[in-house]
Amino acid sequence: MTYLAVPIAAKNPDQAGRQIKAAVQAGAEALELRTDYLENLSTDMVKDLIAEVKATAGRGLALIVTCRDKSEGGVGDQPDRLRTDVLTAAAAAGAEFIDFEYEKFLIASNREKIESALAQNAGCRLILSAHNFETKFADIDKLHQDILSANPAAIPKLVYTAAHINDCFEAFDLLYKTSGDVIVFCMGEAGLISRIIAKKLNSFVTFASLNDKTATAPGQLTIEQFKKLYRYDSIKSDTELFGVIADPVAHSMSPAIFNASFESQKINALYLPLLVGGGQESFCDFMENVISRDRLDFGGFSVTIPHKQNVLNYVRQKDGFVEPLAEKIGAANTVVLGEPQTASRESRITNHEPRLSAYNTDYAGALDAVTSALGIVRSDLKDLSIAILGAGGVARALVAGLTDAGAKVTIYNRTAERGRKLAAEFDCDFAPLDKLSQLDAKLLVNCTSIGMHPNVKATPLPGQLHRKDMAVFDTVYNPAETLLLRQAKKAGAKTIDGVSMFVNQALAQFKLFAETDGDADLMRKTVTENFAKQN
Ligand code: NAP
Repeated sequence: MTYLAVPIAAKNPDQAGRQIKAAVQAGAEALELRTDYLENLSTDMVKDLIAEVKATAGRGLALIVTCRDKSEGGVGDQPDRLRTDVLTAAAAAGAEFIDFEYEKFLIASNREKIESALAQNAGCRLILSAHNFETKFADIDKLHQDILSANPAAIPKLVYTAAHINDCFEAFDLLYKTSGDVIVFCMGEAGLISRIIAKKLNSFVTFASLNDKTATAPGQLTIEQFKKLYRYDSIKSDTELFGVIADPVAHSMSPAIFNASFESQKINALYLPLLVGGGQESFCDFMENVISRDRLDFGGFSVTIPHKQNVLNYVRQKDGFVEPLAEKIGAANTVVLGEPQTASRESRITNHEPRLSAYNTDYAGALDAVTSALGIVRSDLKDLSIAILGAGGVARALVAGLTDAGAKVTIYNRTAERGRKLAAEFDCDFAPLDKLSQLDAKLLVNCTSIGMHPNVKATPLPGQLHRKDMAVFDTVYNPAETLLLRQAKKAGAKTIDGVSMFVNQALAQFKLFAETDGDADLMRKTVTENFAKQN
């Protein structure tokens, strides 16, 4: 089992009392009373707070009492004598767990005191902890064994900083190898997933802060994020994992969209933000780490900047399936683990097929957004005259999809050389931006970032060039209604927003991951709510 524990990190008993109530209300399964945060700390103060926890939460809530040493992240500068007095008093007052640093436990006087407190209070267990705020432990398996040798009944707690997501896998391996209770996770943004999947991997405790301001360690999530965004209550040992591979990843909306979709359909799956720093090599290492550990149950990934080419190279190198248009575009945004199309989701999970397949749902999402807004089917795109503004990654996906459907595409781009190159590759026309005044397209697509938040007063097309018979599609999705779209609407033209494309590409990924249709309205609502929070 895994406890979702909220640290109570308060300066005084009143503040602690408020935090205890809030944590219980938020659904904490355990509290960690970080007594090193308390000013004028005394054993009486701790006894009173434990009594308050018991009165507020009753017997259902486990209490961990910690008085962390400064050398391992503690905030006070309490001597060992006071810290061991506090833990002794906590054990006597009914704390279910006391947490002490393994290094300090090796000192005979500390050890004798702690062991005597435990002997007198059979209901209390010892957590022996080790932290590395810089990097990985030199040998995590040995450290785990050493802790158990020092006290076989203790719960080892091993917490280290992950400099890269690839550093997390040895924590996962230790959890897999050990049969007894153990707490293992990684600090820092690169270690975030180890906190989220702690429950799937049966780590004894994972820690969540009450809010953004009360985090007691780098990378700690709030309890609300655990419960709402990451579906904590529904995580099980066989929960299938998905995620978005990106750098940066913190502002990605994909975890919100996919987890809301899994939740609404009661699918036993969880979607994670996967911060994969570095280039091709780090990307390949991450994929190898995942693929060599089928017990982690990863089913697939959304892939975005800067790894859209890296994923394609990797899948090719592994002799996997690459969707022909993804190959032509030279970028993929989706990778699925398991046989393409043939194996069902269940068989992917149970048989752990080693096959990989790469897709590009960006172009498909964009084409679906166009056809549904214009009330046409893909074959109607043949010979349609379309102006594409921009020649970057998004333009490339659109040009590939639209020329594949037979549309007559003209690319307009600020940097002529880049525009010409793209046009030549897909056998379409190029024109410089100043030729926009002679525009006679039936559909104009903005694939530049002009008009994107915060530059919402900018538009790539002068207002007077809009026409009623020229539909306008803006791939910019923040804001959903850009100035470009407002002016097109004013001219009486049909408009298509970037949120539709974003939702459509996510729907296509959802279908590949979950093998069932997602709910477009739910996805759109999640995107708009998240933008409202972020802007
Ligand atoms: P990118 O590769 O960096 O390309 C950006 C393009 O915009 C280039 O062609 C660039 O022209 C042009 N550009 C940028 N600023 C300009 C300016 N001030 N004046 C004229 N041209 C300018 O970016 P990308 O990955 O293609 O993304 C483009 C946009 O697509 C993003 O900003 C985002 O809003 C949108 N997007 C939408 C979705 C969706 O699902 N709806 C998904 C991803 C991205 P040069 O070649 O001259 O530099």
